[in-house]
Amino acid sequence: MTKWVYSFGGGLNEGGAGMRNLLGGKGANLAEMASIGLPVPPGFTITTEVCSAFYENGNAYPDDLAGQVATALHRIETAMGLTFGDANAPLLVSVRSGARVSMPGMMDTVLNLGLNDETVEGLAHSSGDARFAWDSYRRFIQMYGSVVMGVPHHRFEDLLEQSKRTLNVADDTAISAESWRDVVEGYKEIVLRETGKHFPSDPQAQLWGAVSAVFGSWMNPRAHTYRRLHDIPANWGTAVNVQAMVFGNMGEDCATGVCFTRDPSTGENIFYGEYLVNAQGEDVVAGIRTPQPMSALRAAAEQRPMETVLPEAYAELLRVRDLLEKHYRDMQDIEFTVQSNTLYMLQTRTGKRTAAAALKIAIDMAREGLITQEEAIQRVPPASLDQLLHPTLDPNAERTQLARGLPASPGAAAGAIVFTAEEVEERAAQGQDVILVRIETSPEDVHGMHAARGVLTTRGGMTSHAAVVARGMGRVCVAGAGSIHVDYKAQTLTAGSHVLKAGDWITLDGGTGAVYIGKVATIPPTLSGDFSTLMGWADDVRRLRVRANAETPDDAETARKFGAEGIGLCRTEHMFFGPDRIGHVRQMIMADESEARARAIDALLPFQRDDFASLFRIMSGLPVTIRLLDPPLHEFLPHGETELVDIAKALGQSVEALRARRAALSEANPMLGHRGCRLGISYPEIYAMQVRAIMEAAILVSRETGEAIVPEIMIPLVGMKTELDRTRKAAEDVVAAVFGEQGTTLEYLIGTMIELPRAAITAAQIAEVADFFSFGTNDLTQTTLGLSRDDAGSFLPYYVDHGLLPKDPFVSIDREGVGGLVRLGAESGRSTKPSLKLGVCGEHGGDPDSIAFFEQVGLDYVSCSPFRVPVARLAAAQAALLRRKAAEVPA
Ligand code: ADP
Ligand code: MG
Ligand code: MG
Repeated sequence: MTKWVYSFGGGLNEGGAGMRNLLGGKGANLAEMASIGLPVPPGFTITTEVCSAFYENGNAYPDDLAGQVATALHRIETAMGLTFGDANAPLLVSVRSGARVSMPGMMDTVLNLGLNDETVEGLAHSSGDARFAWDSYRRFIQMYGSVVMGVPHHRFEDLLEQSKRTLNVADDTAISAESWRDVVEGYKEIVLRETGKHFPSDPQAQLWGAVSAVFGSWMNPRAHTYRRLHDIPANWGTAVNVQAMVFGNMGEDCATGVCFTRDPSTGENIFYGEYLVNAQGEDVVAGIRTPQPMSALRAAAEQRPMETVLPEAYAELLRVRDLLEKHYRDMQDIEFTVQSNTLYMLQTRTGKRTAAAALKIAIDMAREGLITQEEAIQRVPPASLDQLLHPTLDPNAERTQLARGLPASPGAAAGAIVFTAEEVEERAAQGQDVILVRIETSPEDVHGMHAARGVLTTRGGMTSHAAVVARGMGRVCVAGAGSIHVDYKAQTLTAGSHVLKAGDWITLDGGTGAVYIGKVATIPPTLSGDFSTLMGWADDVRRLRVRANAETPDDAETARKFGAEGIGLCRTEHMFFGPDRIGHVRQMIMADESEARARAIDALLPFQRDDFASLFRIMSGLPVTIRLLDPPLHEFLPHGETELVDIAKALGQSVEALRARRAALSEANPMLGHRGCRLGISYPEIYAMQVRAIMEAAILVSRETGEAIVPEIMIPLVGMKTELDRTRKAAEDVVAAVFGEQGTTLEYLIGTMIELPRAAITAAQIAEVADFFSFGTNDLTQTTLGLSRDDAGSFLPYYVDHGLLPKDPFVSIDREGVGGLVRLGAESGRSTKPSLKLGVCGEHGGDPDSIAFFEQVGLDYVSCSPFRVPVARLAAAQAALLRRKAAEVPA
């Protein structure tokens, strides 16, 4: 015989917290609380298996269910000394749904079930309180009528409001038994009128009506949609809990409340919540009366905290709070009722919390000895640290929303609207706060983005150029705010009826994607001591090293401040866009003979040397990986015609020549074009200059500081060993020359990016001439999936929404495909050269899920944007703990 029904409370606990799948979260925890001796009104849970069986059998219950329910109901009667449906001392119950995970769309709870015209008199008599009895009865009809019978809720509310007006009372508690009796009659008429049926008076019919409504709600459209959005399988089913009523609405020594064992927004170890005297169920959240605080510490003068109003029950609740935290070893969200000064527990679950609270609670609990340090590390979601590292909008500040885009890079920033990168730089140099507003951004805008407080685009997704670059710099970014129209010519930005001009202020919330009109106050991030404590604990357990992607001194400083252990990717092309360099870069590109090219390149050398020297200084001996020039040359040429004229003048060349050169360099598919090491092979002078600059800078700084600098020179986009043979040899020749000139040597590494499938597949050969591999998973994702990041917006979201792909592969690594190549590359590379250093750079280096994968593959380090370094440190620690745990469990 299948057991369909599990009792709890009243001395028999057949379930427990471990049985969430069978009993649902609510039922499992009610049984758990009862079994550790907490005051839980007796009841029983009808399992989730009944729900599944119900749907499998064409909406019919298993044969033996009714008998099991009757037995369990009888147990409640015995425990309470009351009888369901009895005219003198009736047992009343609540019917509560409860799935494995809490789920909106499920049937609302029905309270006071078992009342009818007869039993209400019994309740009035046994309680000695007719007002209470009739209040309970009208609540029951109201709830059952709307939840089970489908009468619109406001029909009841309207009638109640009307009665209150006639009676001239403001508060429910002031309504007499007599008046409630009239309301009950009115409610029954409403039910009859709306449904054509009489309100059921038989308690058994009421019970099965409510149970069926719970199971029925599992398949309602709202629940269905919610399940689809959250990947909850339909066959999980919901459970139903039937539980003896306790009454918070029986007078001034009764109450109901909801609270958290600690403050869920700050994490402070203080009892946090609200309660209402003489109230029932959801009155606290329904806004019928103003709820009062729990703790006297948190109460304002005019408030009536539970601590002073119901001191006995409060003391008991404090004891329960302590017991619950010790037992569950986590902050709990609880629901309770006080009947005649006696406390009853009606629910407990793990409490939701903000990032700041998660951090504080984890650290505090570890210090209190409630959990271990390792558990504390696992309690904080790494991605949530983002919230702690950036300024946020002052929650109390007034605001008017202009539009909403994607939350592309977190933080909050306010500034004047500016439409071009050049103007951003000008204004920022004068100390103004500005927001760069573009339809979309391109590499030309990077300098402007750096100088701006934030970036707003009207087109593009979470992995658009603007989003990726802004995240990398730690700039606030709202991307793809499609309802905003930008007119560069008119210098205006339009959204709905609002027209803003250049110079007008806006505020961006990169955490939510909201754009506000004007300046909304922000509050700076507060990196508490708890933050560094957690980071310290994480560093103790992680194996993966964490480096940062950085090229400016600013970024490098930030990276070090956040604990980066080196630079994993310095993109030299970003340095080429500096206002003092771009002219030389363009001259280099425009040169039609190699002497002119050599002159331009020579002019760039001192700039690059300074750039690298300052990075080496800031990183003081930590590894720095410098990638030689990667993007196709036309990215450095001006796009607009007016700029073309200016530049031609500056270069002393004709506009036609410049235009022709630009046309010659333009490519149908630049991503797969003349870039990476292909440039280094066609124009060896460029790489030679960069290698020279790196080595001269390294020698300079190690002489300066006495520190050993070990530069790592990285060749991009290698697909074949022959390419690395050639570029490595050329680099070594330059290195030898520099050593000769300087009369010294130092250690250095030459390695390559693995970002083409061919490179991963032939990694064993490439490793013969590489000292390290850095998996460039951004390009590797594009080339493996045959999918351009810039063009994916039109179909990729659909793929993710409809489960064709589990996640956006540019955000979280595609483990089977791209990940398979990473694993292959790592393994075959190490088969040739066991000492080969392996790392990853690109967006995935800062994504917790991907980091877990890189830990499994056994890479040496990840490299991510400076602001994600703490996220990566924590994620790496969690990944290491997970791996250790997996290793403990025998296969
Ligand atoms: P939800 O899942 O929406 O939180 P619950 O089943 O927890 O719904 O019920 C909501 C509220 O109803 C509870 O917080 C509690 O105040 C009240 N309630 C439920 N069952 C009982 C009961 N047996 N006695 C008294 N109040 C109850
Ligand atoms: Mg609840
Ligand atoms: Mg690349």
